[in-house]
Amino acid sequence: MTDDSPDQPHDFIREQIRSDLATGLHDHVVSRFPPEPNGYLHIGHAKSICLNFGVAAEFGGHCSLRFDDTNPAKEDQAYIDAIMEDVRWLGFDWGEHLHYTSDYFEQLYDWAVHLIREGLAYVDELSPEEMREYRGTLTEPGRESPSRNRGVEENLDLFARMRAGDFADGEKALRAKIDMASGNINMRDPVLYRIVRAPHPRTGDAWHIYPMYDFAHGQSDALEHVTHSLCTLEFEDHRPLYDWLIDNLPAPARPRQYEFSRLNLTHTVLSKRRLIQLVEERHVSGWDDPRMPTLTGLRRRGVPPVAIRDFIGRLGVTKSDGIVEMSYLENTMREHLNQTAQRRMAVLDPLKVVIENYPDDADDELDAVNNPNDESAGSRKVAFSREIYVERADFMEDPPRKFFRLGPGREVRLRYAYLVTCTDVIKDDAGNVIELRCTYDPESRGGNAPDGRKVKGTIHWVSAEHAVSAEVRLYDHLFTEEEPGSGDDWLDGLNPNSMELRQGCLLEPSLADLPAGETVQFERLGYFCADPDGAADNLVFNRTVSLRDTWAKEKAKG
Ligand code: ATP
Ligand code: MG
Repeated sequence: MTDDSPDQPHDFIREQIRSDLATGLHDHVVSRFPPEPNGYLHIGHAKSICLNFGVAAEFGGHCSLRFDDTNPAKEDQAYIDAIMEDVRWLGFDWGEHLHYTSDYFEQLYDWAVHLIREGLAYVDELSPEEMREYRGTLTEPGRESPSRNRGVEENLDLFARMRAGDFADGEKALRAKIDMASGNINMRDPVLYRIVRAPHPRTGDAWHIYPMYDFAHGQSDALEHVTHSLCTLEFEDHRPLYDWLIDNLPAPARPRQYEFSRLNLTHTVLSKRRLIQLVEERHVSGWDDPRMPTLTGLRRRGVPPVAIRDFIGRLGVTKSDGIVEMSYLENTMREHLNQTAQRRMAVLDPLKVVIENYPDDADDELDAVNNPNDESAGSRKVAFSREIYVERADFMEDPPRKFFRLGPGREVRLRYAYLVTCTDVIKDDAGNVIELRCTYDPESRGGNAPDGRKVKGTIHWVSAEHAVSAEVRLYDHLFTEEEPGSGDDWLDGLNPNSMELRQGCLLEPSLADLPAGETVQFERLGYFCADPDGAADNLVFNRTVSLRDTWAKEKAKG
């Protein structure tokens, strides 16, 4: 099933696949997404997920989820579970193709023994520091280890004893015997197995040695008959080693590796090491803090997965490194939410309004359109009453001419409801405005004046009697710096105002039952979703994204 319609993404990897299918090199595609279960997935991983699952679906074939669980000291079952949940949430399904590198430990061990027998691997005693020293530099060749020419039998014996747990961590290692003078440092007798006497989440205490990523990865691909092994550019220099291993092992298949550039985003960090630090040092509330670029954070923030897939799709797949503006992601969210999010009314900074000529006991419900961009979303009833709240910023005591909202003597439209005119301003002893008095035009139900007089401004409101109160969390970029420093000072770029808490916000009552995972538009304010921190009597909402890109404007202002 090759689809050449113009809607299908085109990039160098898909071109390669098309060509491999056309020449008959392959008749289907097998790909994989291979996370290390040592942290949560972030939006960079989403690029790899969309690409790997995408090509399998577009060209016929399958994509597996393979946990590269070769480093037990840093791995955890909780990460495995979270990764599966995130991949599913993003919209992909590996079906029966769930694999773990640890499933291949026995096979990988046998292949290591095979290399020893062929004289292509040896047990070394150099410490990791010595090994680094012997390795040489980009301009100088490495030196051979004194153990390099150990005999096959001795190597087999030592390797078996490594496995049996006879040696301490780091005391010995199995290395490939390739070329200490190679121009490619990855070929200077890379380590294949190291001693790690730590229990493994899946194999328990069975192993005292674990394969290095570089040894395990390509062989796992071969065992799964991966046709196109897609990874990020930093592995380009490792490809000769992967090819060397496949050439020298009785591997059942020969996966070809293709490298593409990583996704980088401004105003955040996409490195697991740094994300872990943010969590551990409590700069954020957890992996799922809505400011985090993790998939679980984006989910909690209310970002629809389709917006992420679309964002990734628009970026395309290339070999050139770059950094993508966060505003590009945010604009993609806005585009989707503008089409799909239901509209609701919420007042984040309430100012009381009493409509003096409105009957005390009226039982008035108005029709409010749920989504002007989606007729099928229908409408709902919104209760109106004599006392309402409006946004404090929608009133000015001494407004300029172009302020089309409330001011003394000014008339404004209450969204879906009536035209009201401000007749009085009530202040406390300190001179703060605490209440407005208005009159309404009973003939303007629905929002239009019967005499056709023009009223420019429309503001949102909630009924005092019916509103539910909530805490609202307004998020901003996690980092003020576009590119947080690459040194130890990277945390200096953290945005001290990345979360603004608003207590005592008042929401239209229907928001009390907003289902988890649904994002709505608070009219005129932005997109919001309910946060799991909330309870029935203490609702909490997250701002997913503002209606407009205010960051660009503020930056211009300096
Ligand atoms: P980190 O650098 O954050 O520690 P990683 O690359 O070590 O991440 P893995 O779990 O090994 O994390 O990643 C799984 C897959 O996702 C790999 O194939 C990797 O190339 C890919 N990947 C990781 N980060 C990005 C990114 N920013 N853009 C695109 N692909 C990525
Ligand atoms: Mg990695």
